[in-house]
Amino acid sequence: MEPNRNNWLRTNWIDKGNAQRIFVELKFTLRDCNSLPGVVGTCKETFNLYYQETDSEVGRSLRENQYVKIDTIAADESFTQGDLGERKMKLNTEVRIIGPLSRRGFYLAFQDVGACIALVSVKVYYKKCWSIIENLATFPDTVTGSEFSSLVEVEGTCVRDAEEEADNSPKMHCSAEGEWLVPIGKCICKAGFHQKGDACEPCGRGFYKSSSQDLQCSRCPAHSYNDREGSWRCDCDDGYYRAPSDPPSAACTRPPSAPQNLVYNINQTTVSLEWSPPADTGGRNDVSYRVICRRCSWEPEECVPCGPNVGFSPTQSGLVDTYVAIVDLLAHANYTFEVEAVNGVSDLSRTQRLFAAVSIATGQAAPSQVSEVIKEKVQQRSIQLSWQEPQQPNGVITEYEIKYYEKDQKDRIYSTVRSKSTSATVSNLKPSTAYVFQIRAFTEAGFGTYGPRLEITTMEEATGSLSSAAIVSSEQNPVIIIAVVAVAGTIILVFMVFGFIIGRRHCGYSKADQEGDEELYFQFKFPGTKTYIDPETYEDPNRAVHQFAKELDASCIKIERVIGAGEFGEVCSGRLKLPGKRDVSAAIKTLKVGYTEKQRRDFLCEASIMGQFDHPNVVHLEGVVTRGKPVMIVIEYMENGSLDSFLRKHDGQFTVIQLVGMLRGIAAGMRYLSDMGYVHRDLAARNILVNSNLVCKVSDFGLSRVIDDDPEAVYTTTGGKIPVRWTAPEAIQYRKFTSASDVWSYGVVMWEVMSYGERPYWDMSNQDVIKAIEEGYRLPAPMDCPPGLHQLMLDCWQKDRAERPKFDQIVGILDKMIRNPNTLKTPVGTCTRPISPLLDQSTPDFSALCSVGEWLDAIKMERYRDSFAAAGYASLDSVARMSIEDVMSLGITLVGHQKKIMSSIQTMRAQMLHLHGTGVQV
Ligand code: AMP
Repeated sequence: MEPNRNNWLRTNWIDKGNAQRIFVELKFTLRDCNSLPGVVGTCKETFNLYYQETDSEVGRSLRENQYVKIDTIAADESFTQGDLGERKMKLNTEVRIIGPLSRRGFYLAFQDVGACIALVSVKVYYKKCWSIIENLATFPDTVTGSEFSSLVEVEGTCVRDAEEEADNSPKMHCSAEGEWLVPIGKCICKAGFHQKGDACEPCGRGFYKSSSQDLQCSRCPAHSYNDREGSWRCDCDDGYYRAPSDPPSAACTRPPSAPQNLVYNINQTTVSLEWSPPADTGGRNDVSYRVICRRCSWEPEECVPCGPNVGFSPTQSGLVDTYVAIVDLLAHANYTFEVEAVNGVSDLSRTQRLFAAVSIATGQAAPSQVSEVIKEKVQQRSIQLSWQEPQQPNGVITEYEIKYYEKDQKDRIYSTVRSKSTSATVSNLKPSTAYVFQIRAFTEAGFGTYGPRLEITTMEEATGSLSSAAIVSSEQNPVIIIAVVAVAGTIILVFMVFGFIIGRRHCGYSKADQEGDEELYFQFKFPGTKTYIDPETYEDPNRAVHQFAKELDASCIKIERVIGAGEFGEVCSGRLKLPGKRDVSAAIKTLKVGYTEKQRRDFLCEASIMGQFDHPNVVHLEGVVTRGKPVMIVIEYMENGSLDSFLRKHDGQFTVIQLVGMLRGIAAGMRYLSDMGYVHRDLAARNILVNSNLVCKVSDFGLSRVIDDDPEAVYTTTGGKIPVRWTAPEAIQYRKFTSASDVWSYGVVMWEVMSYGERPYWDMSNQDVIKAIEEGYRLPAPMDCPPGLHQLMLDCWQKDRAERPKFDQIVGILDKMIRNPNTLKTPVGTCTRPISPLLDQSTPDFSALCSVGEWLDAIKMERYRDSFAAAGYASLDSVARMSIEDVMSLGITLVGHQKKIMSSIQTMRAQMLHLHGTGVQV
């Protein structure tokens, strides 16, 4: 009731601890001034709240200005006298927040300025986030931040036997309200432990967990155990092992048992071994094989390792396939071979080795290479050489043979000299000329392989007359030489004639001395001509392929895409990069996996043949890969693929000169092949390849039986498969394949080219073709074909093969045509008709057709029925008078269709002429 009251109440000093933001909750009652009589002007209904921060207690003195005012507190609910009587005291609750606080503690003070007030309670508190475990991490009690909006980031600690996940440590955020927010990262149970609730427990016995990343403990894999809790892996049972690269989840395994069914084959000094996989692989799929070779003395049996001179193909250890060839063994020697199966744990095992073994005695063998050759004396016209006996003579050397040729001579015509001693003089050489020499030894077992090439240049000459090279050995007297040359010449002539008659392409399996045969060809010199050698006359096909084809390193070859399907596997395109050379495009023929030895031989036979050829119109062999997988043949890349499909794709798009240019190329390639004595047997546009410059090259050199795989080849009554439409009658009837039968096929290729890939004899059956040819029928000239070219085709199709032109003449005729393009001009429709009096069967017999519609059906052009009808062509007579312009005016725009229709119309005219003796004016 008194004015200007100023009463203070102060708390004790309050230690704030970690708190930064303090909450003050006040509970009080306050009496309504209106209910108090006579207090107007003095009565108040509020009081003030203050605080003061200090680091310690400051005693009882109190200076008002040291206090900071927090707020004036008013009551939401006041009460009156009447309420008191009814005991209705209304309690007010107010909360105020102070902070951020910076001293260690504080006082609160309440100022009463004249209110009737009762302060019931004061609660002072702060907020915190309570310790929790989240994602296997413990987060401690955390006092909230100083600001209303601040979040306190807290790092968690992994629970026992847990670890932080990599790059993902656990964190949470404590909000100002004391709530945990935004968990990030986590802990995971260590190897050997798994999660149960908020803890990590060890894996039980017989279980393991190899990594913290795994969620669950797993049962021990097969053949392993553990008898401890909390294991990260299981130990292998006795006799079982885990390879270093095996994961803990892999079963324990053991070495394989011995290979089974070991068999061998001896060929002179080469032994091949083959076996079956072991009965027990030890539970692994990485079984490979290794071979141990020991040479044993006969008596007493004592064995020593074979040493580095013996070769293993493909390798000695790490063999994946169940075969190996061991080469370069000594002749007439005893060997023991042990074949052991090994897997990833073989080296860990201390148990006894298990292997299959054979003891073998090698046979006789040709001598090894003559490698150390010395030039004793070099003169203008002669060179004297001496050499060491080969390291492995494998018998008594009766003779040496020295082969030599002029280095820069294109055709590489070899000459040979023989010598009974380890020296020889080669005479009658040209002065200042580089020669290449190679020497090989001869024993009862045959010739050895040639040694490395040795290049020697003869001395310069004072005067320059050259005499022709003759072969003189140092040890032989002239009479013997003449006799030897005469006898050899006779043998060679007989051989050549006989060889020509039997035909060399039909490969036989001969046990004759192959090297000797080869030498005969070389000694009998046709200037400028090499002779084709049938690879099947080699006993060892590998030797043939390496004689004629270069072995390429698989790393030089990059396969890019599949371009076709060959008979033995895919044909791919890719790049070939030989050391020191630019990389070039290449076609790569592969031998499919799982091939038989025979398939491999046949596949490589093509390379053995192709490798003998070197001509711009014969597909060039780059080399072979036989020492790796897949086995590959690498050929120059022919961008436009095979000629038949190329022409069909570009129907009508070339000039006659261009077409004749292609034909000239094919004829030149065939001239080269026939000069070498090679008979192709399957010459057809599909077997000609075209490069990006439109150069045509002859390809597809298989053995005779490879023709069997030509889809065009069919069985004939004389046995064997033959591509009937391309083959000369004598070859069909009695398999007489010669260069003259290749000329017949060439005529058919001419026809294919001039008709842009039309099928010879269209859809006539093979039987009908054989019959028609026998009766003298020949293919008519294709549309727009110059008469001279058709005449050449007809010449190629002479029944009497002796009458057919030779490839050399064909090249000459085509060259002449190209030089005089006027001879190639043909107005549409003036092509000569077949000389045969028989009807042309390229279209149906028109006498059997009644209407234009039937005719269009017969030539599969029925789509133009309406066009013909609309233009008023109602009868075949009117059609027979049509010109190319008339056909075009019907709206027939496709060149191929125009040609087909015109070709049929021309035939129709010819038939009408023949049947009725009446001409049709065009
Ligand atoms: P082949 O086994 O020789 O009949 O080849 C099958 C297919 O592969 C042929 O029809 C060609 O399309 C393609 N081909 C073969 N050799 C080559 C090459 N040298 N260049 C481009 N394509 C080729």
